[in-house]
Amino acid sequence: MRGKTDTEATGHIEDRMEAFRSKCRATGLKITPQRMAVYKALLESMEHPSAEVVFRQVRKTYPSISLDTVNRTLLTLSEIGAAFIVEGSGDAKRFDANLKNHQHFKCVKCKRIIDFHHEAFDCLHIAENLLPGCTVLRKTVYLEGYCDLCQDSHKG
Ligand SMILES: [Zn+2]
Ligand SMILES: [Zn+2]
Repeated sequence: MRGKTDTEATGHIEDRMEAFRSKCRATGLKITPQRMAVYKALLESMEHPSAEVVFRQVRKTYPSISLDTVNRTLLTLSEIGAAFIVEGSGDAKRFDANLKNHQHFKCVKCKRIIDFHHEAFDCLHIAENLLPGCTVLRKTVYLEGYCDLCQDSHKG
């Protein structure tokens, strides 16, 4: 199984939680148990979950939490830079708390989002005249196709 053993990519959960608390304090965001639970659920998942998926997870501990609260919390997380919305995720936004340099591959069939890291993609050169007057804040490489599991069914 891929995912939870990948501590290299995610760092230690408790350390990340502590860093998140400091970030909240720095940005004046109130640290509520629900907010921490949403962040933790996102951290623990390597699947780039949608708000719905995070909601189902957090609801186990906080049965009264609403999907709307989870959704707003996730958006807040991306606003303060604790997470981001995966590009090209289509209908339902998918979130990622892994802030280390990496790229995404999305399976068009099962919608799985797979992390990969190719260093050359971290330093894409954008010619200055490409987007006159614009400031580029984030450059990402995003690939789409059929994953290993869907490959065969797609062919045959
Ligand atoms: Zn697939
Ligand atoms: Zn990712």
